[in-house]
Amino acid sequence: MNSKESQIPNPRKPWCKNCKAHTRSYEKVVTESANGGPQVKHEICKECGRRVIAPEHCPEKAFSCVLVLCSGLFVLGFFIVLVGSGDILILGYGLLVVGPLFYFLGLKDVKFARENKKAWIVWAKERGYNENEELKAEGK
Ligand SMILES: [Zn+2]
Repeated sequence: MNSKESQIPNPRKPWCKNCKAHTRSYEKVVTESANGGPQVKHEICKECGRRVIAPEHCPEKAFSCVLVLCSGLFVLGFFIVLVGSGDILILGYGLLVVGPLFYFLGLKDVKFARENKKAWIVWAKERGYNENEELKAEGK
């Protein structure tokens, strides 16, 4: 691989915190539920086999989504438990468990993205990358 190119900061390219470079990566399906649930794919570093992520993935935005979605599920579950009866109660209790579970799973993911981005910014600045200039260029 071109090692020079891997040292040029690019927020759109996956960056490996372990190798401190934009290493080559491949997609790997990490969870795939049997009942047709959503697939979770991680970008994996070809050099060291660890998970990589493109710094431009905004963890703050993802975090809000996770929070809204999970509290929605939780509130819905709570509502079902309050007013429901019979079989639907199982669904209600299920949501009460699934809501927080998704929240913690999502939080773990967001934490990873946030730490990766933080480390990337430090690394990129060492190479003369200016975060604000990039934002201006994108018209944010
Ligand atoms: Zn790596």
